[in-house]
Amino acid sequence: MAIKKTIIRECPECGAFFDTEAYEVINATLDLALRDEVIWGRIFDFTCPVCSHRFRSPYSMSYKEMEQEYIIFLDLGEAAEHSDEPTDENRLIENQIAEAREFFPTYRIRVVHDMMDLIEKIHIFSAGLNDKIVTYLGYKIKDDVTLKMKTAKPPIRVHKALFDSLKGKEGELNFGLLSSSPKPIFVTTPSRDYEYLLKKSPLRHQFDEAEGLYQIDESWAAGIDKVLIA
Ligand SMILES: [Zn+2]
Repeated sequence: MAIKKTIIRECPECGAFFDTEAYEVINATLDLALRDEVIWGRIFDFTCPVCSHRFRSPYSMSYKEMEQEYIIFLDLGEAAEHSDEPTDENRLIENQIAEAREFFPTYRIRVVHDMMDLIEKIHIFSAGLNDKIVTYLGYKIKDDVTLKMKTAKPPIRVHKALFDSLKGKEGELNFGLLSSSPKPIFVTTPSRDYEYLLKKSPLRHQFDEAEGLYQIDESWAAGIDKVLIA
């Protein structure tokens, strides 16, 4: 089940503007096929009606799963750019969060500003993991690999480590690195690192669900390290 909206896209090939259908809200529990469309980014693919060029162009939307009880808002900030549009198409993220809290008080609410971050959150929550711990692990992996790659020729810049899946009997955590390397880089971390952060680390309470904290990303993880030093 999904709520749709009409948005305007501009073709990057021929410059034509056109109206097209897009998703406002996706309830993935009720529509598993749609979940895959999000995971593969295909809900953000469009075909130009003038020149038939296909292109990807993410837009703001929200993604809900009722079994794991979470809502993720992908906020790409178009609302501010198009403030003359009808208010319905244009609800501020704050209003959407307030509404979600009212109707789904037990749900985890997250706000992301990038399609890849949306997909990562879905992978994390589908695996039944705490996204704060996984985000923190990803941040540490990025740091670690950045240090090791400094001496590579040519040097490789790591932009982000994104959680992909749990693998193997022991449930290792599998991360894919977004980097300047032409080859994909994967890093695996043992689940005992995750368990340590969950149960024993002095940081463990930083990973509890906290009121009003919706943006769990790299800068949040960097802030956690500062807590440890202080
Ligand atoms: Zn075109």
